[in-house]
Order: sequence, then C-alpha cells, then structure tokens
Amino acid sequence: MRGFPEPEIVVSACLNLEPVRYNGKYVKDDFVLKLKKYSQFIPVCPEVEIGLGVPRDKIIVYKKEKNFYLYQPSQKIELTDKMIEFSEKFLNSLANIDGFLLKSKSPSCGLSGTVIYKDPDRKIYHSRGRGIFALKVVEKFPLLPAEDEKRLKNKEIKDHFLTRIFAICELRNLIKNLKGMDDLIKFHQRYKYLLMAHSQAKLKEMGRLIAGYNKKNLRDIVNRYRELFLIALKRKPSKGQHINVLEHILGHISDKLNKGEKEHFMELVEKYKKGFAELQTLKEILKSFAYRFKDDYIINQVYLEPYPEDLI
Ligand code: SF4
Repeated sequence: MRGFPEPEIVVSACLNLEPVRYNGKYVKDDFVLKLKKYSQFIPVCPEVEIGLGVPRDKIIVYKKEKNFYLYQPSQKIELTDKMIEFSEKFLNSLANIDGFLLKSKSPSCGLSGTVIYKDPDRKIYHSRGRGIFALKVVEKFPLLPAEDEKRLKNKEIKDHFLTRIFAICELRNLIKNLKGMDDLIKFHQRYKYLLMAHSQAKLKEMGRLIAGYNKKNLRDIVNRYRELFLIALKRKPSKGQHINVLEHILGHISDKLNKGEKEHFMELVEKYKKGFAELQTLKEILKSFAYRFKDDYIINQVYLEPYPEDLI
C-alpha cells in the first residue's frame, strides 16, 4: 500500500462521535468509524453551537417564497439567523479542509433527504432538500466533496467521495511544501490517469497550463491548477470513462503481454461493462502487470490506488 495523507474532514458530531442528537443519542455508522482511522475529523454540531440543549425538541425547515427557515415548532422559535451566523463564522474559520461528511435528513446538517415544509406548523409538505448548515457548506465550498452517511452506502458515490478527499488533501500538502515546478509536474504525472477518468478536457487544459510555465508565474499556475483539479474531480467518472482509462493503461504495457493475457483482460473489461466484474479487479490486474514489468510510471498512478484499500 502506498502512503496516504490524512484528509481533514468536517463531520457531523452525532456520526459516531458525540451523543448530541435531539434525542440525546448518536448514530452508529461503521464506515465513518473506519474513515476516522485514516483522516483528521473536525466534529461540529451546529444545533448545539447555536445554544440548543441535548436532548431538545425537534426543529424543522420550511420554505417561504425563495428562502429557507429553521424553526422549533414546540417553542415557536425562529432559529434561521442564529444558524446562518454560526455557519458563516465556522466555515470562514476553516483554513485547511478537504471535505464534509454530514448527517443525512437533518434540518441543519442534511445534504439530502431533509423534509422541507411550506409552513412553520408542518401542515403542508413541500419537498426533500438540504438543512440550513448544509446549504451554507455547499454555497461556501462548491468544489469540495460533501456527502452524507446515507449516500455513502452507494459504492460509486463512496468511491468518488474517497477519491476526492484523498486527492484534494494530497494537492493541499503539495502546495504547502512546493519547492518548484518539478514538484507539480511529478504530481501531475502521477494523477494523469485519474484526471483522465474524471475529465479529459480538464486534463488537457492542465497540461497546457503547466507547459505555459515561464519561471515567473509559479504561484499563478499553482492556483489555477488547483481550481482545475477540483473542477475535474467533481465529475464522477462514467463506466465508459473508466474503460477508456483501463484501455489506455493496458496500451502502455501491452507490448510486454502475451495474446492470452491481453484477451483475458479485455474479456474482463467486457464483463465490467455488463456489470459482471468489479472495477477493482481490473485495477489489481493492471497493478500486478506493472509490478511484473517494474513499470514505475504505472505503479505510481494514483488511479490504481486512490485511497487506502481498507476503505473500499
Ligand atoms: S445532525 Fe448535525 S445538528 Fe443534528 S445532531 Fe447531528 S451534528 Fe448536531
């Protein structure tokens, strides 16, 4: 296993960490526990931060015209301004952050599934959407990964989230310790196939950006590179994009493979296309080819191992 940096992630405190839910309990989630071993968690409970006790009466979100409001029906208290004030202050204080893992359905933290009413008395259902803190998160950090524990039960969403947080953390560390253009070029080489899977267009744009280095504009290039990197990674690769990358990597080593090995690999690609083989299996085969031929360029491709395999 290669070395991995520890992403810094803002996590809803009630996800395994603290019993701060309205009912005085917390939510058990095995994946969150596992991820904690490989990350730096920054726990936050926005409802406790705005002064609500534990346990507490339920609060809700309602929408009036275009605006969302946070409200505690039992006490008839409007909490919107307090929550917005806390959210902005907290989010502005985050200097090094790689993503968010929030509790689903919550009127504060919910990134998805939060029930939204048309009125403060909860008489008329409006839709499902986001909580007030979560709205501020996506507004302030539109390019950072933000997911909830329910959506992360989906294999592809989880893979995308993990890929992004570890990649963004690695780029953040690179920028912090950057000594020169060579560091960025090496980074870009290692990320070539990962970026290709997410966006061929952005990969090309980043290549042109690096080629435009003139010994004076390193900071400008790095800042633009980071922006393009975040935009590229925001797109979840399709099956077709993964297949394209697998074929590219195979092409890189194919002249050293025999006919049977190539045919077997392409049969597995076909099975993956139809849903009968796992992407991970194909990556492992390519990795073992790369080790057999001592091909460091492929061995070091982040695409083949974007995050610790324990988290798969
Ligand atoms: S969902 Fe958010 S606001 Fe609600 S208890 Fe958990 S951390 Fe606190």
